[in-house]
Amino acid sequence: MKKDLPIVAIIGRPNVGKSSLFNAFIGERRSIVSEIAGTTRDSLMEQINDLGKIPFWVVDTAGLSDFGDNNLENEIQIQAQVAMENADLILWVVDGRNELTEDDYIIADKLRRSKTPILFIANKIDDGDPSKAYEFMELGFGMPETISAKNNFGFWDFAERLQKQLVEMGYNAKDYAETEFENNEDRRDEDPDKPIKIAFIGRPNVGKSSLLNQLVGQNRSVVSDVSGTTRDSIDMDLFWDLEKNCIATEVDREANPAQVKPFKLIDTAGVRKPGKIGRQNFEFWSSVRTMRSIERADICAILIDALDGVTHQDLVLAGKIVKAGKGIVLCVNKFDLIKEKSQAKEETDEREIAEIKMWGEDLDKIRKDYMWYLHQKIAFLPWAPVLFFSAKTGKGVKDLLGTVVGIAEQRRKRVTTANLNRYIPEIYYGHVLPSAGTKKGKIKMVQQVDSNPPKFLFFVNNIAAFHFTYKRYVENKIREKYGFFGTPIIIEFRDAMARYRGNKSGNSKTE
Ligand code: GDP
Ligand code: GDP
Repeated sequence: MKKDLPIVAIIGRPNVGKSSLFNAFIGERRSIVSEIAGTTRDSLMEQINDLGKIPFWVVDTAGLSDFGDNNLENEIQIQAQVAMENADLILWVVDGRNELTEDDYIIADKLRRSKTPILFIANKIDDGDPSKAYEFMELGFGMPETISAKNNFGFWDFAERLQKQLVEMGYNAKDYAETEFENNEDRRDEDPDKPIKIAFIGRPNVGKSSLLNQLVGQNRSVVSDVSGTTRDSIDMDLFWDLEKNCIATEVDREANPAQVKPFKLIDTAGVRKPGKIGRQNFEFWSSVRTMRSIERADICAILIDALDGVTHQDLVLAGKIVKAGKGIVLCVNKFDLIKEKSQAKEETDEREIAEIKMWGEDLDKIRKDYMWYLHQKIAFLPWAPVLFFSAKTGKGVKDLLGTVVGIAEQRRKRVTTANLNRYIPEIYYGHVLPSAGTKKGKIKMVQQVDSNPPKFLFFVNNIAAFHFTYKRYVENKIREKYGFFGTPIIIEFRDAMARYRGNKSGNSKTE
């Protein structure tokens, strides 16, 4: 099983180059970042897979400027403290061209008490001359790594240093190795008896705990949040009877394994927050922690507040979930409030989604409009099932686990190579034939090489002919024929001739 990716947070006083360093990390991937959710890069965290064998999340704290009621000195301390509490490794950046400032000393004081490992970095060493950096040793963090985030000087050495640090912290490249199965004999069949791991994802206050309580009720083990003792969240195992739609016991499971299924509810532990932190800061670190839960899950239930509708943060999270290859069920929670609204004589709640009329409308109409609104708003998720429920009253909640089982089955599904290859001629219909210049693109063979999420390799004659838009088209054709609702599917084009040319993998350049 893959382990959690380490969270690496960049901190430092304003203007030392935190964002520049973040950009150096994400490099050319930046354009891809914004592609999925159709948003610009507001995401202050990115998964970095290609700077060494251990992938990690890099987190940029530069954009956080809302600190609640605190003064600047406090702000800086709190910023450092929250990062220490929530990240696995701190990258502390100072300006290598100038004297240290009061703010640098304040941060140093905080970090000195940190249990979280720290890499100390002097940025803006554009000429590679480290002499200034020696002065910073007085702080007691050793000799800083010298880099220029702007022109990438020293960056690769630094990236190596970072990998070494992660290894020292106990992360192991083996846990993150990619596995791929080129033929069906090797294939790993997903065990249908393994618990399905579900994470409840959504903004603070959207109803995640209420939903958990509603599903698990009295059986919920009380988990206290002992700050600082452990960063690992505690998941909850349970059996659910899909016929009776209620929680079940192990005995029930043994008696009727077809009807009683095991689940693991992933604990979306809250942010550890020292003192008062601003709302923006709080939401930001919540979403960082949320990424952790997403990684561990098979399927994410994205909760949306029925009256607030889809927020920007929801879109960003949904984009991340797709990228992580996890299943999705969209849950419109607090539907009781809409019911109330639809029946109220007067407007009692000012929240209103422009696209959906709620006053004095019948619920079916509202639901229909809501579906339309969701598909407009989250256009990249046409395949995700949508549920409407109320975690408070419990109405509709119980459909969730059945839906999740359905998605899990789709994620495990295997289409045979023979079946896929019979489908090739049909795939061409409905789109201009792929081509690059005068050269036509042809699909030579298709194989499903993995499941959970399903992954397909298209071996083609001329990889340049297969653009991103064609990839999307092919995805739709696969879904049209084979379903796969509730799960992202991965499509990759490979050069069919590559193995004869000595490049066995022949990776697609169209990514
Ligand atoms: P942040 O506030 O810590 O995120 O800092 P920014 O990344 O926004 O950078 C602050 C300023 O320093 C910007 O004008 C950057 O162009 C500049 N800067 C960042 N890194 C370097 C560097 O390596 N060398 C030089 N000369 N300037 C840099
Ligand atoms: P979390 O922060 O996502 O875990 O959200 P909570 O479960 O703590 O819920 C936040 C607030 O929303 C609480 O006051 C809940 O009672 C309320 N809430 C949650 N679900 C519903 C719902 O379906 N309907 C209504 N009316 N309120 C809800």
